[in-house]
Amino acid sequence: MTERSYFDWNATAPLRPQAAAASAEALALPGNASSVHAEGRAARQAIERARAEVAALVGAKANDVIFTASGTEANMLALSPAIETATEKRPRDRLFLSAVEHSSVRTGGRFAREAVEEVRVDADGRLDLAALADAVRKASRPLVSLMLANNETGVVQPVAEAAAIVHAAGGLMHVDAVQAAGRIPVDMAALGADFMTLSAHKIGGPKGVGALLRAREDLHFADPLIRGGGQERGMRAGTENVAGIAGFGAAAVAAHRQLADEAAHMLALRAELEAGLRAIAPETVIFGASVERLPNTTLFSLAGMKAETALIAFDLEGLAVSSGAACSSGKVQPSHVLAAMGVRPVLARGAIRVSLGWTTTKADVERLLAAWRKVSSALSKSSKERPGLAA
Ligand code: PLP
Repeated sequence: MTERSYFDWNATAPLRPQAAAASAEALALPGNASSVHAEGRAARQAIERARAEVAALVGAKANDVIFTASGTEANMLALSPAIETATEKRPRDRLFLSAVEHSSVRTGGRFAREAVEEVRVDADGRLDLAALADAVRKASRPLVSLMLANNETGVVQPVAEAAAIVHAAGGLMHVDAVQAAGRIPVDMAALGADFMTLSAHKIGGPKGVGALLRAREDLHFADPLIRGGGQERGMRAGTENVAGIAGFGAAAVAAHRQLADEAAHMLALRAELEAGLRAIAPETVIFGASVERLPNTTLFSLAGMKAETALIAFDLEGLAVSSGAACSSGKVQPSHVLAAMGVRPVLARGAIRVSLGWTTTKADVERLLAAWRKVSSALSKSSKERPGLAA
């Protein structure tokens, strides 16, 4: 097999060794964390340790972490009309989302379709704060869900500013920080998040574990998504995935400790990557390049390129990249993120996402650039031969 370079860290990150070790240790624990005997208490201890570790990654309290089976599930739990606070028991009447949210938020969670409204973003994919202020005025008890960083472009949203608007309107703020955590510093309180979603596998933990964090103890779901044995303080029933949770905790510790070094490493490599992409094909468009982005993400395109063709060409060269377009039932759909940013279909159709991580090397970037030389020159040759195609 040819040597491979993995550039799809936003889809999932490889397991960190610390997470693998913690999960393996927890897998060997025989007890159920709800049992009172020593075996049960050992499993409980592993979970509670991880709870504190995950909370520390975003400056939250251990008691405010609810473990779930994924980031998707945490989003579903959060997007509920039945959120109660100490002073407000009436249901949330409307849910507002940015137009670039992940599909697990875009579906509107447990709100009726008519109660969900999208708020526009600008050409860089950042939420239009004036539009948000207008929108939340229409509701008495709004819930707003805004991602901290976009999974396709890496663009960082003005979450703290949005939260101030939401709170002034008597609303609650949910922040999907799945892509941001471990890549940029995240502080729940500074962002003004009432709820925050995290996912283990994006920070080097195991797949199939997530968490919903709340800002205060009085925030409560009158309708937990999964009811049963009362685990996770009644917010998420089901025997806990002890190994997954322990791995999540260890990944959070490593991600937190190494954040500054890893971010600097990724940023330097990405600068080299983007300069190279443009040097090879000067018409290359890098989406969101003029605003704050995650240090590891580049979404780029050339007019007339087809993402699925480019993706296969990169794969054959030993490079795992991703298309900016979601593929469902065999049909490549244009990305809703680029559509919301007003990107022309001729550009959006070619969008390729390259996402880096802590093991990415300079040699990986050079291999990608060598492949880009071939992909982009093949495109310019074919558009010269058949000029109508690139239009
Ligand atoms: N939110 C964002 C922004 C994501 O990128 C993802 C995964 O791609 C999710 C939520 C869902 O997380 P999970 O894969 O744990 O269900």
